[in-house]
Amino acid sequence: MRSVDIEKLKEIVGENNVLHQKADLYVYGSDSSVHEALPDAIVRPLTVEQVQGVMRYANSQKIPVIPRGSGSGMCGQVVPVQGGIILDMKGLNRILEINPKDGYCRVEPGVVDDDLNRALKPYGVFYPPTPASSVAATIGGEIANNASGGRSVKYGAARVAILAMKVVMPNGDLLSFGSTTRVAASGYPLERLMVGSEGTLAVIVEACLRFVPIPKMRCLGIAKFNKLSEAGDAISDIMGSGCQPSMLELPEVEAILLYEADGMSKEVIDLEMAKIQAICEKHNCFGIESSYEEKERARIWAGRAKLFPALSKYDERLASTSLADDMAVPFSKMAECADKIHEIAEKHGLVMTAYGHCGAGCMHTKILMDTDQHISWDHAKLAVEEIYDFVRSVGGTTSAEHGIGLSKAQAFKKEKAASLELMRAIKRAFDPNNIMNPGKLMDGPDNWVEATALRYQSE
Ligand SMILES: Cc1cc2nc3c(=O)[nH]c(=O)nc-3n(C[C@H](O)[C@H](O)[C@H](O)COP(=O)(O)OP(=O)(O)OC[C@H]3O[C@@H](n4cnc5c(N)ncnc54)[C@H](O)[C@@H]3O)c2cc1C
Repeated sequence: MRSVDIEKLKEIVGENNVLHQKADLYVYGSDSSVHEALPDAIVRPLTVEQVQGVMRYANSQKIPVIPRGSGSGMCGQVVPVQGGIILDMKGLNRILEINPKDGYCRVEPGVVDDDLNRALKPYGVFYPPTPASSVAATIGGEIANNASGGRSVKYGAARVAILAMKVVMPNGDLLSFGSTTRVAASGYPLERLMVGSEGTLAVIVEACLRFVPIPKMRCLGIAKFNKLSEAGDAISDIMGSGCQPSMLELPEVEAILLYEADGMSKEVIDLEMAKIQAICEKHNCFGIESSYEEKERARIWAGRAKLFPALSKYDERLASTSLADDMAVPFSKMAECADKIHEIAEKHGLVMTAYGHCGAGCMHTKILMDTDQHISWDHAKLAVEEIYDFVRSVGGTTSAEHGIGLSKAQAFKKEKAASLELMRAIKRAFDPNNIMNPGKLMDGPDNWVEATALRYQSE
Protein backbone atom coordinates (compact mmCIF):
# COMPACT_ATOMS: atom_id res chain seq x y z
CA MET A 1 0.00 0.00 0.00
CA ARG A 2 1.29 3.50 -0.86
CA SER A 3 0.96 6.43 1.51
CA VAL A 4 -2.09 8.66 1.15
CA ASP A 5 -1.51 11.89 -0.83
CA ILE A 6 -3.44 14.47 1.21
CA GLU A 7 -2.95 17.22 -1.39
CA LYS A 8 -4.35 15.02 -4.15
CA LEU A 9 -7.44 14.29 -2.02
CA LYS A 10 -7.90 18.01 -1.35
CA GLU A 11 -7.83 18.61 -5.13
CA ILE A 12 -10.71 16.14 -5.51
CA VAL A 13 -13.03 17.15 -2.64
CA GLY A 14 -11.77 20.58 -1.59
CA GLU A 15 -9.43 21.79 1.15
CA ASN A 16 -12.02 21.62 3.97
CA ASN A 17 -13.23 18.13 3.23
CA VAL A 18 -10.06 16.22 4.02
CA LEU A 19 -9.15 15.58 7.65
CA HIS A 20 -5.86 14.09 8.76
CA GLN A 21 -4.98 15.54 12.18
CA LYS A 22 -4.40 13.00 14.94
CA ALA A 23 -7.60 13.99 16.79
CA ASP A 24 -9.69 13.48 13.62
CA LEU A 25 -8.10 10.10 13.02
CA TYR A 26 -9.07 9.05 16.56
CA VAL A 27 -12.66 10.22 16.12
CA TYR A 28 -12.99 8.17 12.95
CA GLY A 29 -11.01 5.18 14.28
CA SER A 30 -13.91 3.49 16.05
CA ASP A 31 -17.66 2.86 15.96
CA SER A 32 -19.99 1.38 18.61
CA SER A 33 -17.96 -1.83 18.78
CA VAL A 34 -15.04 -2.73 21.04
CA HIS A 35 -12.53 -2.10 18.22
CA GLU A 36 -10.24 0.79 17.36
CA ALA A 37 -7.71 1.40 14.53
CA LEU A 38 -6.59 4.65 12.93
CA PRO A 39 -7.17 5.61 9.28
CA ASP A 40 -4.65 7.69 7.30
CA ALA A 41 -7.21 10.29 6.23
CA ILE A 42 -10.89 11.12 6.28
CA VAL A 43 -12.51 12.35 3.10
CA ARG A 44 -15.96 13.97 3.07
CA PRO A 45 -17.32 14.01 -0.49
CA LEU A 46 -20.36 16.17 -1.26
CA THR A 47 -21.13 14.90 -4.78
CA VAL A 48 -21.15 11.62 -6.69
CA GLU A 49 -18.40 12.96 -8.96
CA GLN A 50 -16.19 13.54 -5.92
CA VAL A 51 -16.82 9.95 -4.76
CA GLN A 52 -15.79 8.77 -8.23
CA GLY A 53 -12.64 10.90 -8.07
CA VAL A 54 -11.63 9.53 -4.66
CA MET A 55 -12.24 5.93 -5.78
CA ARG A 56 -10.20 6.38 -8.99
CA TYR A 57 -7.31 7.78 -6.99
CA ALA A 58 -7.48 5.13 -4.23
CA ASN A 59 -7.78 2.29 -6.76
CA SER A 60 -4.78 3.50 -8.74
CA GLN A 61 -2.72 3.55 -5.53
CA LYS A 62 -4.30 0.42 -3.97
CA ILE A 63 -5.31 2.38 -0.87
CA PRO A 64 -8.10 0.90 1.30
CA VAL A 65 -11.37 2.86 1.33
CA ILE A 66 -13.96 2.40 4.06
CA PRO A 67 -17.37 3.96 3.33
CA ARG A 68 -18.86 5.28 6.56
CA GLY A 69 -22.30 6.53 7.58
CA SER A 70 -22.74 7.58 11.20
CA GLY A 71 -20.40 4.95 12.64
CA SER A 72 -23.12 3.46 14.84
CA GLY A 73 -22.31 -0.10 13.76
CA MET A 74 -21.75 -2.48 16.66
CA CYS A 75 -19.10 -4.89 15.40
CA GLY A 76 -16.31 -2.82 13.85
CA GLN A 77 -17.50 -2.61 10.24
CA VAL A 78 -16.01 0.87 9.72
CA VAL A 79 -12.86 0.34 11.78
CA PRO A 80 -9.97 0.65 9.29
CA VAL A 81 -7.93 -2.45 10.16
CA GLN A 82 -5.51 -1.78 7.30
CA GLY A 83 -5.55 2.03 7.53
CA GLY A 84 -6.46 3.97 4.40
CA ILE A 85 -9.25 6.44 3.68
CA ILE A 86 -12.49 6.75 5.61
CA LEU A 87 -15.09 7.93 3.09
CA ASP A 88 -17.55 9.85 5.25
CA MET A 89 -20.82 9.72 3.27
CA LYS A 90 -22.86 11.99 5.54
CA GLY A 91 -22.37 14.94 3.17
CA LEU A 92 -24.45 13.21 0.48
CA ASN A 93 -27.68 13.72 2.38
CA ARG A 94 -30.32 14.96 -0.04
CA ILE A 95 -33.77 13.46 -0.45
CA LEU A 96 -33.91 13.51 -4.26
CA GLU A 97 -37.52 12.49 -4.91
CA ILE A 98 -40.65 11.43 -3.08
CA ASN A 99 -42.96 9.79 -5.60
CA PRO A 100 -46.29 8.77 -4.02
CA LYS A 101 -47.82 7.77 -7.37
CA ASP A 102 -45.18 5.11 -7.99
CA GLY A 103 -44.64 4.33 -4.31
CA TYR A 104 -40.95 5.08 -3.91
CA CYS A 105 -38.45 7.69 -2.82
CA ARG A 106 -34.89 8.29 -3.99
CA VAL A 107 -32.32 9.39 -1.45
CA GLU A 108 -28.61 9.90 -1.09
CA PRO A 109 -26.92 7.48 1.33
CA GLY A 110 -26.09 10.04 4.04
CA VAL A 111 -29.77 10.77 4.79
CA VAL A 112 -30.51 9.91 8.42
CA ASP A 113 -33.39 7.47 8.93
CA ASP A 114 -35.44 9.79 11.18
CA ASP A 115 -35.01 12.69 8.72
CA LEU A 116 -36.35 10.51 5.90
CA ASN A 117 -39.37 9.49 7.96
CA ARG A 118 -40.05 13.14 8.90
CA ALA A 119 -40.04 14.03 5.20
CA LEU A 120 -42.32 11.10 4.30
CA LYS A 121 -44.89 11.78 7.05
CA PRO A 122 -46.89 14.46 5.17
CA TYR A 123 -47.47 11.88 2.43
CA GLY A 124 -48.98 9.44 4.97
CA VAL A 125 -46.23 6.88 4.42
CA PHE A 126 -43.11 5.66 6.19
CA TYR A 127 -39.87 3.75 5.55
CA PRO A 128 -40.18 0.82 7.94
CA PRO A 129 -36.79 -0.89 8.58
CA THR A 130 -36.01 1.82 11.19
CA PRO A 131 -33.50 0.52 13.76
CA ALA A 132 -33.46 1.73 17.37
CA SER A 133 -30.54 3.95 16.29
CA SER A 134 -32.72 5.78 13.72
CA VAL A 135 -31.80 9.18 15.16
CA ALA A 136 -28.25 8.64 13.80
CA ALA A 137 -28.16 5.71 11.37
CA THR A 138 -27.88 6.63 7.69
CA ILE A 139 -29.72 4.92 4.85
CA GLY A 140 -26.36 3.84 3.33
CA GLY A 141 -25.28 2.23 6.60
CA GLU A 142 -28.66 0.57 7.04
CA ILE A 143 -28.57 -0.96 3.55
CA ALA A 144 -24.96 -2.09 3.87
CA ASN A 145 -25.82 -3.76 7.22
CA ASN A 146 -29.33 -4.97 6.29
CA ALA A 147 -30.60 -3.15 9.37
CA SER A 148 -33.96 -3.85 10.92
CA GLY A 149 -35.94 -2.89 14.00
CA GLY A 150 -38.70 -3.91 16.36
CA ARG A 151 -41.36 -3.69 13.64
CA SER A 152 -39.43 -5.80 11.10
CA VAL A 153 -41.53 -8.77 12.19
CA LYS A 154 -44.31 -7.23 10.09
CA TYR A 155 -42.52 -4.89 7.68
CA GLY A 156 -39.19 -6.65 7.02
CA ALA A 157 -35.54 -5.57 7.13
CA ALA A 158 -33.78 -3.04 4.87
CA ARG A 159 -33.47 -5.59 2.07
CA VAL A 160 -37.25 -5.66 1.66
CA ALA A 161 -37.36 -1.90 1.13
CA ILE A 162 -34.69 -1.68 -1.60
CA LEU A 163 -35.90 -1.33 -5.16
CA ALA A 164 -32.83 0.08 -6.90
CA MET A 165 -29.59 1.87 -6.28
CA LYS A 166 -26.63 3.64 -7.84
CA VAL A 167 -23.15 2.64 -6.81
CA VAL A 168 -19.65 3.87 -7.49
CA MET A 169 -17.41 0.90 -8.20
CA PRO A 170 -13.85 0.74 -6.83
CA ASN A 171 -12.53 1.86 -10.26
CA GLY A 172 -14.78 4.95 -10.17
CA ASP A 173 -17.47 3.72 -12.61
CA LEU A 174 -21.05 4.72 -11.75
CA LEU A 175 -23.50 1.80 -12.13
CA SER A 176 -27.27 1.42 -11.64
CA PHE A 177 -28.70 -1.75 -10.08
CA GLY A 178 -32.34 -2.84 -9.82
CA SER A 179 -35.47 -1.06 -11.01
CA THR A 180 -37.94 1.41 -9.51
CA THR A 181 -40.81 -0.95 -10.39
CA ARG A 182 -42.41 -3.10 -7.66
CA VAL A 183 -41.52 -6.33 -9.44
CA ALA A 184 -38.50 -7.14 -11.59
CA ALA A 185 -37.29 -10.45 -12.96
CA SER A 186 -34.50 -9.05 -15.10
CA GLY A 187 -31.48 -11.11 -14.16
CA TYR A 188 -29.29 -10.98 -11.08
CA PRO A 189 -30.68 -8.56 -8.44
CA LEU A 190 -27.35 -6.83 -7.79
CA GLU A 191 -29.03 -4.22 -5.60
CA ARG A 192 -29.76 -7.07 -3.18
CA LEU A 193 -26.12 -8.15 -3.25
CA MET A 194 -25.22 -4.74 -1.87
CA VAL A 195 -27.49 -5.38 1.13
CA GLY A 196 -25.28 -6.70 3.91
CA SER A 197 -22.12 -6.05 1.88
CA GLU A 198 -20.71 -3.86 4.70
CA GLY A 199 -18.79 -1.57 2.39
CA THR A 200 -16.74 -4.41 0.86
CA LEU A 201 -18.02 -4.21 -2.74
CA ALA A 202 -18.82 -0.66 -3.89
CA VAL A 203 -20.00 2.72 -2.57
CA ILE A 204 -23.78 3.27 -2.49
CA VAL A 205 -24.44 6.82 -3.75
CA GLU A 206 -28.21 6.66 -4.24
CA ALA A 207 -30.99 4.36 -3.05
CA CYS A 208 -34.52 3.96 -4.33
CA LEU A 209 -36.71 2.77 -1.46
CA ARG A 210 -40.30 1.63 -1.24
CA PHE A 211 -42.48 2.95 1.54
CA VAL A 212 -45.75 1.81 3.13
CA PRO A 213 -48.81 3.61 4.55
CA ILE A 214 -48.58 4.78 8.15
CA PRO A 215 -51.02 2.68 10.18
CA LYS A 216 -53.88 4.73 11.64
CA MET A 217 -53.58 3.16 15.08
CA ARG A 218 -51.62 0.69 17.14
CA CYS A 219 -52.33 -1.28 20.27
CA LEU A 220 -49.59 -2.46 22.66
CA GLY A 221 -50.04 -5.33 25.08
CA ILE A 222 -48.07 -7.07 27.80
CA ALA A 223 -48.32 -10.62 29.14
CA LYS A 224 -46.32 -12.08 32.02
CA PHE A 225 -45.30 -15.68 32.48
CA ASN A 226 -43.90 -17.68 35.39
CA LYS A 227 -41.39 -19.48 33.21
CA LEU A 228 -39.29 -18.33 30.28
CA SER A 229 -40.14 -21.60 28.53
CA GLU A 230 -43.86 -20.68 28.62
CA ALA A 231 -43.12 -17.30 27.03
CA GLY A 232 -40.98 -19.14 24.46
CA ASP A 233 -43.82 -21.55 23.60
CA ALA A 234 -46.19 -18.59 23.26
CA ILE A 235 -43.77 -16.90 20.81
CA SER A 236 -43.62 -19.86 18.44
CA ASP A 237 -47.37 -20.43 18.68
CA ILE A 238 -48.08 -16.76 17.90
CA MET A 239 -45.74 -16.76 14.94
CA GLY A 240 -47.03 -20.12 13.70
CA SER A 241 -50.70 -19.20 14.00
CA GLY A 242 -50.97 -16.72 11.14
CA CYS A 243 -51.03 -13.76 13.55
CA GLN A 244 -49.40 -10.60 12.21
CA PRO A 245 -48.02 -8.67 15.20
CA SER A 246 -46.25 -5.45 14.28
CA MET A 247 -43.94 -6.04 17.24
CA LEU A 248 -43.20 -8.97 19.55
CA GLU A 249 -40.52 -8.35 22.16
CA LEU A 250 -38.94 -10.39 24.94
CA PRO A 251 -37.49 -7.64 27.13
CA GLU A 252 -35.32 -9.74 29.52
CA VAL A 253 -35.33 -12.92 31.58
CA GLU A 254 -38.41 -11.93 33.53
CA ALA A 255 -40.50 -13.88 30.99
CA ILE A 256 -42.52 -10.94 29.78
CA LEU A 257 -43.85 -10.60 26.25
CA LEU A 258 -44.66 -7.23 24.72
CA TYR A 259 -46.83 -7.45 21.61
CA GLU A 260 -48.23 -4.85 19.29
CA ALA A 261 -50.70 -4.90 16.42
CA ASP A 262 -51.18 -1.98 14.04
CA GLY A 263 -53.44 -1.24 11.09
CA MET A 264 -56.12 0.94 9.57
CA SER A 265 -59.13 -0.24 11.58
CA LYS A 266 -59.79 -1.00 15.25
CA GLU A 267 -61.79 -4.13 14.38
CA VAL A 268 -58.84 -5.76 12.64
CA ILE A 269 -56.40 -4.79 15.39
CA ASP A 270 -58.77 -6.01 18.13
CA LEU A 271 -59.02 -9.36 16.39
CA GLU A 272 -55.23 -9.64 16.11
CA MET A 273 -54.73 -8.69 19.78
CA ALA A 274 -57.39 -11.18 20.91
CA LYS A 275 -55.69 -14.00 18.98
CA ILE A 276 -52.31 -13.19 20.54
CA GLN A 277 -53.78 -12.89 24.04
CA ALA A 278 -55.60 -16.23 23.70
CA ILE A 279 -52.32 -17.92 22.81
CA CYS A 280 -50.55 -16.30 25.77
CA GLU A 281 -53.37 -17.46 28.08
CA LYS A 282 -53.04 -20.99 26.73
CA HIS A 283 -49.44 -20.83 27.97
CA ASN A 284 -50.46 -19.72 31.50
CA CYS A 285 -49.73 -16.02 31.25
CA PHE A 286 -51.03 -13.54 33.79
CA GLY A 287 -51.19 -9.76 34.16
CA ILE A 288 -52.40 -9.07 30.61
CA GLU A 289 -52.82 -5.37 29.82
CA SER A 290 -53.19 -3.56 26.53
CA SER A 291 -53.92 -0.07 25.28
CA TYR A 292 -54.35 2.11 22.21
CA GLU A 293 -53.64 5.27 24.23
CA GLU A 294 -50.23 6.83 23.67
CA LYS A 295 -49.58 7.50 27.38
CA GLU A 296 -50.58 4.00 28.39
CA ARG A 297 -48.49 2.47 25.62
CA ALA A 298 -45.49 4.47 26.85
CA ARG A 299 -46.07 3.14 30.39
CA ILE A 300 -46.29 -0.48 29.18
CA TRP A 301 -43.17 0.05 27.04
CA ALA A 302 -41.22 1.81 29.81
CA GLY A 303 -39.34 -1.29 31.04
CA ARG A 304 -38.07 -2.10 27.53
CA ALA A 305 -37.18 1.54 26.87
CA LYS A 306 -35.04 1.72 30.02
CA LEU A 307 -33.17 -1.50 29.33
CA PHE A 308 -30.31 0.07 27.38
CA PRO A 309 -29.51 2.95 29.79
CA ALA A 310 -30.01 0.63 32.78
CA LEU A 311 -27.26 -1.62 31.48
CA SER A 312 -24.68 1.16 31.66
CA LYS A 313 -25.66 1.82 35.27
CA TYR A 314 -25.75 -1.80 36.44
CA ASP A 315 -22.36 -1.57 38.17
CA GLU A 316 -19.98 1.32 37.64
CA ARG A 317 -16.98 -1.04 37.48
CA LEU A 318 -18.50 -2.89 34.55
CA ALA A 319 -18.69 -1.57 31.01
CA SER A 320 -21.45 -2.67 28.65
CA THR A 321 -19.83 -4.13 25.53
CA SER A 322 -21.37 -5.12 22.20
CA LEU A 323 -20.32 -8.73 21.75
CA ALA A 324 -22.36 -11.65 20.37
CA ASP A 325 -24.90 -8.88 20.18
CA ASP A 326 -27.58 -9.99 17.71
CA MET A 327 -27.97 -13.64 16.85
CA ALA A 328 -31.05 -14.91 15.02
CA VAL A 329 -32.56 -18.25 16.03
CA PRO A 330 -35.77 -20.07 15.05
CA PHE A 331 -38.80 -18.82 17.05
CA SER A 332 -39.07 -22.13 18.87
CA LYS A 333 -35.51 -21.71 20.21
CA MET A 334 -35.79 -18.16 21.61
CA ALA A 335 -36.37 -19.16 25.23
CA GLU A 336 -33.75 -21.92 25.12
CA CYS A 337 -31.29 -19.42 23.64
CA ALA A 338 -31.93 -16.88 26.42
CA ASP A 339 -31.43 -19.61 29.06
CA LYS A 340 -28.25 -20.81 27.35
CA ILE A 341 -26.80 -17.29 27.25
CA HIS A 342 -27.29 -16.92 31.00
CA GLU A 343 -25.83 -20.37 31.64
CA ILE A 344 -22.73 -19.53 29.56
CA ALA A 345 -22.37 -16.13 31.27
CA GLU A 346 -22.48 -17.73 34.72
CA LYS A 347 -19.93 -20.35 33.72
CA HIS A 348 -17.48 -17.62 32.68
CA GLY A 349 -18.20 -15.22 35.55
CA LEU A 350 -19.73 -12.60 33.26
CA VAL A 351 -22.89 -10.52 33.54
CA MET A 352 -24.94 -10.89 30.35
CA THR A 353 -28.36 -9.77 29.28
CA ALA A 354 -30.54 -11.54 26.74
CA TYR A 355 -33.45 -9.73 25.17
CA GLY A 356 -34.88 -9.74 21.73
CA HIS A 357 -37.16 -8.86 18.89
CA CYS A 358 -38.54 -12.36 19.27
CA GLY A 359 -41.11 -11.97 16.50
CA ALA A 360 -38.13 -11.73 14.14
CA GLY A 361 -36.14 -14.43 15.94
CA CYS A 362 -33.55 -11.84 16.93
CA MET A 363 -31.77 -12.27 20.27
CA HIS A 364 -29.67 -9.38 21.62
CA THR A 365 -27.06 -9.58 24.36
CA LYS A 366 -24.67 -7.23 26.10
CA ILE A 367 -21.66 -8.41 28.08
CA LEU A 368 -21.05 -6.31 31.18
CA MET A 369 -17.44 -6.72 32.25
CA ASP A 370 -14.44 -5.12 33.87
CA THR A 371 -12.68 -4.14 30.66
CA ASP A 372 -9.47 -3.23 32.53
CA GLN A 373 -8.82 -6.89 33.24
CA HIS A 374 -7.26 -9.02 30.51
CA ILE A 375 -8.91 -12.04 32.08
CA SER A 376 -12.38 -10.53 31.39
CA TRP A 377 -11.60 -10.45 27.68
CA ASP A 378 -10.40 -14.07 27.81
CA HIS A 379 -13.67 -15.09 29.44
CA ALA A 380 -15.70 -12.98 27.02
CA LYS A 381 -13.96 -14.61 24.07
CA LEU A 382 -14.81 -18.10 25.30
CA ALA A 383 -18.40 -17.10 26.11
CA VAL A 384 -18.91 -15.53 22.67
CA GLU A 385 -17.58 -18.66 20.96
CA GLU A 386 -19.87 -20.94 22.97
CA ILE A 387 -22.90 -18.77 22.28
CA TYR A 388 -22.29 -18.89 18.54
CA ASP A 389 -21.69 -22.66 18.67
CA PHE A 390 -25.11 -22.99 20.32
CA VAL A 391 -26.77 -20.64 17.80
CA ARG A 392 -25.43 -22.67 14.88
CA SER A 393 -26.43 -25.95 16.53
CA VAL A 394 -30.11 -24.89 16.60
CA GLY A 395 -30.13 -23.61 13.00
CA GLY A 396 -29.60 -19.93 13.82
CA THR A 397 -27.32 -17.37 12.20
CA THR A 398 -24.48 -15.17 13.47
CA SER A 399 -26.13 -11.78 12.92
CA ALA A 400 -29.80 -10.81 12.73
CA GLU A 401 -29.34 -7.09 12.02
CA HIS A 402 -26.05 -5.54 13.20
CA GLY A 403 -23.80 -7.27 10.64
CA ILE A 404 -20.47 -9.09 10.95
CA GLY A 405 -17.59 -6.57 10.90
CA LEU A 406 -14.64 -7.73 12.96
CA SER A 407 -16.01 -9.16 16.18
CA LYS A 408 -18.28 -11.71 14.49
CA ALA A 409 -15.99 -12.71 11.61
CA GLN A 410 -14.80 -15.91 13.29
CA ALA A 411 -18.35 -17.16 13.91
CA PHE A 412 -19.47 -16.01 10.44
CA LYS A 413 -16.61 -17.90 8.78
CA LYS A 414 -17.54 -21.07 10.69
CA GLU A 415 -21.20 -20.69 9.74
CA LYS A 416 -20.56 -19.97 6.06
CA ALA A 417 -17.45 -22.15 5.60
CA ALA A 418 -18.74 -23.79 2.42
CA SER A 419 -19.42 -20.49 0.60
CA LEU A 420 -16.47 -18.31 1.66
CA GLU A 421 -14.56 -18.91 -1.59
CA LEU A 422 -17.61 -17.98 -3.64
CA MET A 423 -17.95 -14.76 -1.60
CA ARG A 424 -14.27 -13.97 -2.20
CA ALA A 425 -14.76 -14.52 -5.95
CA ILE A 426 -17.73 -12.11 -5.93
CA LYS A 427 -15.62 -9.54 -4.10
CA ARG A 428 -12.77 -9.96 -6.63
CA ALA A 429 -15.24 -9.36 -9.49
CA PHE A 430 -16.27 -6.03 -7.91
CA ASP A 431 -12.97 -5.09 -6.35
CA PRO A 432 -9.95 -6.80 -7.94
CA ASN A 433 -7.48 -4.68 -5.95
CA ASN A 434 -9.22 -5.45 -2.62
CA ILE A 435 -9.45 -1.80 -1.59
CA MET A 436 -13.07 -1.83 -0.36
CA ASN A 437 -13.10 -2.22 3.43
CA PRO A 438 -10.47 -5.00 3.38
CA GLY A 439 -10.11 -7.46 6.25
CA LYS A 440 -13.85 -7.78 6.92
CA LEU A 441 -16.59 -10.43 6.51
CA MET A 442 -15.04 -13.55 4.90
CA ASP A 443 -11.56 -12.00 5.28
CA GLY A 444 -12.17 -10.91 8.87
CA PRO A 445 -9.98 -12.00 11.80
CA ASP A 446 -10.16 -15.40 13.54
CA ASN A 447 -9.33 -13.78 16.87
CA TRP A 448 -11.35 -10.60 17.44
CA VAL A 449 -9.64 -9.83 20.77
CA GLU A 450 -6.27 -9.45 19.06
CA ALA A 451 -7.49 -8.04 15.74
CA THR A 452 -7.21 -4.37 16.76
CA ALA A 453 -6.58 -2.23 19.80
CA LEU A 454 -9.61 -2.45 22.11
CA ARG A 455 -11.57 0.73 22.78
CA TYR A 456 -11.08 0.36 26.54
CA GLN A 457 -8.21 0.73 28.95
CA SER A 458 -6.40 -2.42 29.85
CA GLU A 459 -3.83 -3.26 32.52
C1 LIG B 1 -27.84 2.44 20.45
C2 LIG B 1 -27.82 1.66 19.18
C3 LIG B 1 -28.96 0.95 18.80
C4 LIG B 1 -28.97 0.22 17.63
N1 LIG B 1 -30.12 -0.43 17.26
C5 LIG B 1 -30.16 -1.12 16.10
C6 LIG B 1 -31.36 -1.78 15.67
O1 LIG B 1 -32.40 -1.72 16.33
N2 LIG B 1 -31.33 -2.44 14.50
C7 LIG B 1 -30.21 -2.49 13.72
O2 LIG B 1 -30.25 -3.10 12.64
N3 LIG B 1 -29.07 -1.88 14.10
C8 LIG B 1 -29.01 -1.20 15.25
N4 LIG B 1 -27.84 -0.59 15.63
C9 LIG B 1 -26.64 -0.73 14.78
C10 LIG B 1 -26.46 0.38 13.72
O3 LIG B 1 -27.04 1.58 14.14
C11 LIG B 1 -27.04 -0.03 12.38
O4 LIG B 1 -26.34 -1.14 11.88
C12 LIG B 1 -27.02 1.08 11.30
O5 LIG B 1 -27.60 0.57 10.15
C13 LIG B 1 -25.63 1.61 10.98
O6 LIG B 1 -25.78 2.82 10.25
P1 LIG B 1 -24.58 3.87 10.17
O7 LIG B 1 -25.00 4.98 9.29
O8 LIG B 1 -24.11 4.24 11.52
O9 LIG B 1 -23.49 2.98 9.42
P2 LIG B 1 -21.95 2.78 9.78
O10 LIG B 1 -21.82 2.14 11.11
O11 LIG B 1 -21.21 4.03 9.53
O12 LIG B 1 -21.57 1.71 8.65
C14 LIG B 1 -22.13 0.44 8.67
C15 LIG B 1 -21.64 -0.35 7.43
O13 LIG B 1 -22.19 0.25 6.28
C16 LIG B 1 -21.17 0.55 5.33
N5 LIG B 1 -21.60 1.76 4.61
C17 LIG B 1 -22.04 2.93 5.16
N6 LIG B 1 -22.38 3.78 4.17
C18 LIG B 1 -22.15 3.15 3.00
C19 LIG B 1 -22.30 3.51 1.63
N7 LIG B 1 -22.77 4.71 1.27
N8 LIG B 1 -21.94 2.61 0.68
C20 LIG B 1 -21.47 1.39 1.03
N9 LIG B 1 -21.32 0.99 2.30
C21 LIG B 1 -21.66 1.85 3.28
C22 LIG B 1 -19.92 0.74 6.17
O14 LIG B 1 -18.75 0.50 5.42
C23 LIG B 1 -20.13 -0.31 7.24
O15 LIG B 1 -19.69 -1.56 6.79
C24 LIG B 1 -27.80 0.15 16.81
C25 LIG B 1 -26.66 0.87 17.20
C26 LIG B 1 -26.66 1.61 18.36
C27 LIG B 1 -25.42 2.35 18.74
